[in-house]
Amino acid sequence: MKISFKLKTAMLIALIITLVCAASVFTLISAGEKAIGDELKQRLIQSVERNADEVEIKNGILDIENDFAFYAGGVYCSVYSSDGKYIKGEMPDSLNADIEFRNGETASRKINDENYLVYDSQVLFNKYECEVDIRSGNVINCEAGSADYESVEENEYRNIKFSSGISASKAVEAAIEFVDANREKVKLISVDYEPLSDSGVFKVEFVSDQAEYIWIRGITPADSTGNAFSTINRWVLCSLPLLIFVAAILAYLIAKRIIKPVEDITLSAKDISSGNDLSKRIEIGNGRDEIHVLADTFNEMFERLGKSFENERQFTSDASHELRTPLAVIKGECEFALSKNSNASDYPEAFREIQAQADKMTALVSTLLTLTRTDQKSSKFVLEPNDISILCEEVCADFRSDRGISIKYDIEKNIVMNCEPVLICRLLENLLTNSVKYGKENGETVVKLYKEKEHIILSIADNGIGMTAEEKEKAFNRFYRADSARSGEGFGLGLSLVSKIAELHGGTAVVESEKGKGSEFRIIF
Ligand code: ADP
Repeated sequence: MKISFKLKTAMLIALIITLVCAASVFTLISAGEKAIGDELKQRLIQSVERNADEVEIKNGILDIENDFAFYAGGVYCSVYSSDGKYIKGEMPDSLNADIEFRNGETASRKINDENYLVYDSQVLFNKYECEVDIRSGNVINCEAGSADYESVEENEYRNIKFSSGISASKAVEAAIEFVDANREKVKLISVDYEPLSDSGVFKVEFVSDQAEYIWIRGITPADSTGNAFSTINRWVLCSLPLLIFVAAILAYLIAKRIIKPVEDITLSAKDISSGNDLSKRIEIGNGRDEIHVLADTFNEMFERLGKSFENERQFTSDASHELRTPLAVIKGECEFALSKNSNASDYPEAFREIQAQADKMTALVSTLLTLTRTDQKSSKFVLEPNDISILCEEVCADFRSDRGISIKYDIEKNIVMNCEPVLICRLLENLLTNSVKYGKENGETVVKLYKEKEHIILSIADNGIGMTAEEKEKAFNRFYRADSARSGEGFGLGLSLVSKIAELHGGTAVVESEKGKGSEFRIIF
């Protein structure tokens, strides 16, 4: 199945939006649930433990103090005996379920289809404070609370004795017996004597590891928060399809917006390509983003293609035009020689003309070939270090000028550069030929070769007819001839070849010229 890029992008964005939204909502809910759940647990545990401090055993009777909160902050607290019998509380009967007691554990329980948190605390009564009357040896008061048996150290005590009463050790025995504990399992904390107005008591404080205990159970509804969250959960689940739908629409709109410029570019490119009109451009307004860079790149490509096609077209039409003239002459000469009007004495003249035209065509084709090869910038030319001072000197020395024009040259010695000697000679010959062709009768041409900073400059200056600004601009164009009378046999390719050869050597060709005064061509390598 072919899925468009727009659809793919939309689907991807929709997926991302949905996942991000769903993940955020679920994270939020879970975090909220956990935070509230933790807070609920904390409240439950605190209520139960606070109440644990409010119970003690006084003289064998369980004493629940008034500060014991049976119901506070949504938490029900009840007191149970060690065998799980309900002793006291305000727990609704419905919550008095038969749930096993577990010390210090918070558990979720379902009671009558409702969720509750249950926390049990075992309250030990293993720390005793008993008062023993010194005269009778009877325990007159004994209170029990809880302590950590393991952390209590057995303490020494002074065995005070009274002549008319019991000794401290007797008091200890009496106290331990009173609470029915085993002396072996008892750790004494302190034994103090306290005088009373008429008599006195021994206060015996100790812990036992055989202890009575009770349970305090706290229960609180867990659904108060859970309900809210399960409602939200349900809501989120139900609205998920809607969320996906909205995300899909949003994603489609975003994708459409993202893809729009690309579609515009495609449309314009198609339009340009189908209409074969390379002068048209992609218009997507101003901007500097990637899409605009893409459009600009396309436009530059169209521009270059357009120029290249135009050059190609111009070149073909000019080349065929140039070839047509000598071909027409050859054809004419042949027709004349073969006609009845001619005789044998006419033939040498006809052949000479045909030969001249054939030479002209050969020269043209050779120049075109060189141009094409330099155009391709292929590895057909190998640039190697050559002493161009010698090359230029030889060309100038060998050059035969006419019309009384003298060739002077001032060439710096030992200038070596990477070049193709044949092409450098061709370049200089072309410029010398032009300087003579467009030079003044008995004028002069000056050739200079020198180094200037990191450049090598070859200059050919004449005092000939010169050029107007417009001619100067077009001089390097292929097949351009400003003055066809002077150009004579020229094709208007000499300077374009010069410029191509300069380019091939990493240089440029420039001209300074003034009409009627002369021209200076400079090749800057
Ligand atoms: P052509 O075969 O016509 O000489 P070129 O490409 O060598 O072709 O030169 C292009 C045109 O530039 C010439 O037709 C001429 O008008 C102008 N030109 C070239 N060299 C000179 C020069 N030294 N002085 C004046 N005009 C020149």
